[in-house]
Amino acid sequence: MSTVLLLATRNQGKVRELRALLGNVRGLRLIGLDQVDAACEVIEDGATFEENACKKARETAAATGRLVLADDSGLEVDALSGAPGVHSARYAGQHGADEANNEKLLMELANVADAERTARYRVVLALADPKGLLGSRVHTEEGVCEGRILRVRKGQGGFGYDPLFQPEGYGCSLAELSEEEKNGISHRALATHKLERFLETYLRRQ
Ligand code: IMP
Repeated sequence: MSTVLLLATRNQGKVRELRALLGNVRGLRLIGLDQVDAACEVIEDGATFEENACKKARETAAATGRLVLADDSGLEVDALSGAPGVHSARYAGQHGADEANNEKLLMELANVADAERTARYRVVLALADPKGLLGSRVHTEEGVCEGRILRVRKGQGGFGYDPLFQPEGYGCSLAELSEEEKNGISHRALATHKLERFLETYLRRQ
């Protein structure tokens, strides 16, 4: 018998990515919000990735009564006191405008020395299962990818801030790595691997 895990997103790219990353969990079937008949738009107004991910998981689970996985992620730049952080997707004003976001980031860091351009991607995954063993609790996992912000864009791969993000230990940007290489070091892959281990035990105990 398989367990259905509802992903709190309408983004088909994210559904595909999480299906690939969580594909090894036996007896788990992943579906997106578009595949359920429920209206649940959650406003992401939290101050942290954890607050946003937990809110999305909790509210989506309450609206559907299902086992739900939600996430929130972004870029934290030390010289900008952690910005863009939870505002990463709309840093330049419009949601998901990658090019404008990168331009703004370069402008904000124009006078910041190379040694101070440290940054990291962070993601929090939140699992809610109100009718199951978790009850009113939400289980979270976090993944972090350390790096620094370049002075010029490099590479064509990835998305978002990847052309400007040089992962620690690499001499190129994330956008210059193959999808496979990025998945070996990305914040999302690290958090998903931890969640995979949690789910394997959790589903056995049901
Ligand atoms: P969300 O968690 O899907 O809302 O993503 C938030 C934003 O963070 C994205 O729109 C990107 O700007 C940024 N972001 C998160 N993860 C990555 C990544 O792996 N590469 C590049 N940008 C990312």
